[in-house]
Amino acid sequence: MQKRKLYLDCDGVILDTIKKSYEIIQDKKLTTDDEIRLFYENINWRELIIISGEIDNSIFKIKVLSEHFDIEILTHVNSDNEIKAKLEYFKKELPDINVIPVPKSIDKCDKINPNGAILVDDFLTNLEKWKNKGGIPIKFSDTGKECEFTTITDLLQLLEIDFDNKI
Ligand SMILES: [Mg+2]
Repeated sequence: MQKRKLYLDCDGVILDTIKKSYEIIQDKKLTTDDEIRLFYENINWRELIIISGEIDNSIFKIKVLSEHFDIEILTHVNSDNEIKAKLEYFKKELPDINVIPVPKSIDKCDKINPNGAILVDDFLTNLEKWKNKGGIPIKFSDTGKECEFTTITDLLQLLEIDFDNKI
């Protein structure tokens, strides 16, 4: 049987880069949209990835999931150095998994065809747009905060969902 397509968000799902970068933004007392945009454009992503680390053993879990799903990583990016750092990191940690960088100005659902494919993301807007284009949205939340979409707190929970009856 053909494996179902599964797209995984990176920041806030695989790597703890969201939490870590918010800490830095608070420390630096950045508040305006411009300051924050510039921060993300200029930050050294190789360093950010190292200091952030995986969320809850995510790399191992993705290796387990890849036996059941056809996985690619679908990640928004703000700069060339971010693209390079992410590609480098995943080439080393998950050499068999493809990484698709999506410029921040483009929606994930416009970069690839969501039809029948799962997207695991921590950002609701991505999931709403994904669903509107025929995709299956799954919210990742480390706090388990509920929302309109099926929510998981652990990537391995994907193995318990009956996707055939979801669409
Ligand atoms: Mg995210």
